[in-house]
Amino acid sequence: MIVSVPKPLEHILTRLDGESPVFLVGCNLCAAACRVGGEREVRAMAEALTQHGVSVAGSRVLDGACNARKTRRELESCRAALEGARGVLVLACGGGAQSVLAALLDLRLERLPVHPGADTLMQAEQSGPAEFEQLCSLCGECLLDDYGGICPVARCAKGLLNGPCGGSAGGRCEVFPEHPCAWVLIGERLRRLDRLDLLERVIPPRSGDPRAHPRRLRRS
Ligand code: SF4
Ligand code: SF4
Repeated sequence: MIVSVPKPLEHILTRLDGESPVFLVGCNLCAAACRVGGEREVRAMAEALTQHGVSVAGSRVLDGACNARKTRRELESCRAALEGARGVLVLACGGGAQSVLAALLDLRLERLPVHPGADTLMQAEQSGPAEFEQLCSLCGECLLDDYGGICPVARCAKGLLNGPCGGSAGGRCEVFPEHPCAWVLIGERLRRLDRLDLLERVIPPRSGDPRAHPRRLRRS
C-alpha cells in the first residue's frame, strides 16, 4: 500500500486561504488504512476547517482515489457541490490527488485548485493496525532471488548490494538502529537455505537507473 501522513493543519489552512468553501476528497483504501483520508479523517478535517472559518461545500471518500476512471465517475456525481466550491483538498496520496485533478479537468472544473492534505512517504507493507514497513522501494529490477528474498535495495540504509558495511551492532543497522541490519537478515536467510554461495558472486552496478521516471505501463 501507499503510505502517507497528514500535513499539519496550519499548513493546510495557509494553502486554503481565500478558497472557502472547500470540497474534501478522501480515499477508502490506503489513505483510510493510514488514518489519513477515511470517513473518520474526512469528517474530522471538515470539523477542524469549519472551526477555523473555512466552510465545506461537500465531501466524498473515493473508492480508491488512484483509480482514475472510478474517481471521475464518483466526482461527477458530486458536480453540484464541486461547482459551489473554490478549492479541493485531497486526503490521499500524491497519485490520488493527481487522479482527482485529472477527473476535474475532464469534468471541465479546471478552475478548482487541488491541494494535497497528506505527504506521501512510501510503498509499504502493513505490519500492525497503524504500522507500516517499507520492504520494497519499487526499483524496477527485482533482485530478491540473489538475497534469499530479503531486499537490500530497500532495507539496507546504504542500499548495499554486495555485502554489509561492517557497522551493524547486535543485528541492528548502524544508520537506523530501530531497524534490523538487512545484511544480517540476508545472511541468516541464505544460511538457512544453504545458499551462502550466493554471497560469493559480485552483483555488478546496474546498467541504467531502473527508477528513472516518469514511467508508464500498458499491458494487454
Ligand atoms: S529488488 Fe527490492 S526494491 Fe527492487 S523490486 Fe525487488 S524488492 Fe523491490
Ligand atoms: S548496518 Fe546493515 S542495513 Fe545498515 S547500512 Fe550497514 S549493511 Fe546496511
